[in-house]
Amino acid sequence: MIAFADAVAAVRAEASTLSPEPVRLDDALGRVLAEAVASPVELPPFDNSAMDGFALASGGATLARGIELDVHGEAAAGDPRQQAGHGAFEIMTGARIPDGLDTVIPVEQVEVLARDDRGRAQRIRLQADLPPGQHVRRAGEDVARDALVMAAGEPIGAAQLSLLAALGVPSLLLRRRPRAALVCTGRELVDDPAAPLGAGQIRNSNGPYLEARLRTAGADVVHRATVDDDVDAFVAEIAQARTRACDLIVSTGAVSMGRYDFVPEALARLGARIVFHKVAMRPGKPLLFAVLPDGTLYFGLPGNPVSSAIGMRFFVEAALAAMLGLPPERPLRIPLATAVHKKPGFRLLQKARVEPVDGGRLQVVLLRGQESFRLAPLVAANAWAVLPEAGSELDAGSPIEVHGLDREQFTLHGVQAT
Ligand code: AMP
Ligand code: MG
Repeated sequence: MIAFADAVAAVRAEASTLSPEPVRLDDALGRVLAEAVASPVELPPFDNSAMDGFALASGGATLARGIELDVHGEAAAGDPRQQAGHGAFEIMTGARIPDGLDTVIPVEQVEVLARDDRGRAQRIRLQADLPPGQHVRRAGEDVARDALVMAAGEPIGAAQLSLLAALGVPSLLLRRRPRAALVCTGRELVDDPAAPLGAGQIRNSNGPYLEARLRTAGADVVHRATVDDDVDAFVAEIAQARTRACDLIVSTGAVSMGRYDFVPEALARLGARIVFHKVAMRPGKPLLFAVLPDGTLYFGLPGNPVSSAIGMRFFVEAALAAMLGLPPERPLRIPLATAVHKKPGFRLLQKARVEPVDGGRLQVVLLRGQESFRLAPLVAANAWAVLPEAGSELDAGSPIEVHGLDREQFTLHGVQAT
């Protein structure tokens, strides 16, 4: 039996980073950058007005309340470059500041003394002092040319899409999505949700859960099947999965000590190298990790739903992260809501809720119903709590490791702004 941390490290060591591929910005959501992005341009691209009002030339000094100026023109968002030089220009938010002007006074701080026959301001009086440069968004103030805006290994979310669109980046080098196959084992399983259950049958709940997790974690599920407890049928299904050029195969069930637990035998037939079988954790101990002769990673998750969820979250997703070039996860540490007694020697992975208490401080509550067959508490959980191998008593208030249901939930991304 291998220790939890050693098992995760072994998984990461066997997973290789996938190749980069060019992807159009429209298709980039949820994918991972294979290289850093430096800005090809300045943002904003030109000095522009932050307000609706009038653009003026400050001459480098504060313009005093009471000054009167003629209005020589108008600048709206989208207008081309204009020359000004002196006097005032009526200006709209986002309009390029006319050459020669450098300061904007909001329309609310101006008295219009004269208008032309179309209602446009011709002469104004300032009703407030106006410091030089006020209400101007400077070219490059948000992003300087060549500035590093995103790091390799950063996932593309809405904010990244917005900045890349603003910078005019049409396509990116992203990591190829890992290709995964999912095979559920068990003669008791029924896939069709509309089919009636025969005696002794149950519905396949791991299939939908694991497929959803694989997709959320960045994989394409290229093959999915359910097979009986028959080693020949299982080996044939794995052969089928391998025709889809998958990077990893995930199975559920048949890795424990029962008479129908044939996955180890099937892997031996396939010439696989077993990296570990059984991890010092609860639930989910019977987890098996192997590498097929062609390098395909193989995860044999136990059939119990929570055990398979833990195998997916902490081991399969660690492999996916390594394939995508993501760094190892850094969990949060959050105080336990109540004292816990546990058996030493095993890492305990618990369905948990992170909740705010008085004044918004966080605490973590271990949910009732931790048995690995129980699905209902998974719906109530918003995190996994991880209790260490060492020790048997944890006091209320002790900080413990907490992982999001998703890797992204508690991960802090982004290039540090200076
Ligand atoms: P196994 O690991 O094959 O011995 O299965 C352990 C338990 O998990 C048994 O109660 C199975 O019926 C159940 N189980 C196995 N596969 C699934 C599945 N795909 N969906 C729901 N329960 C499952
Ligand atoms: Mg089974």
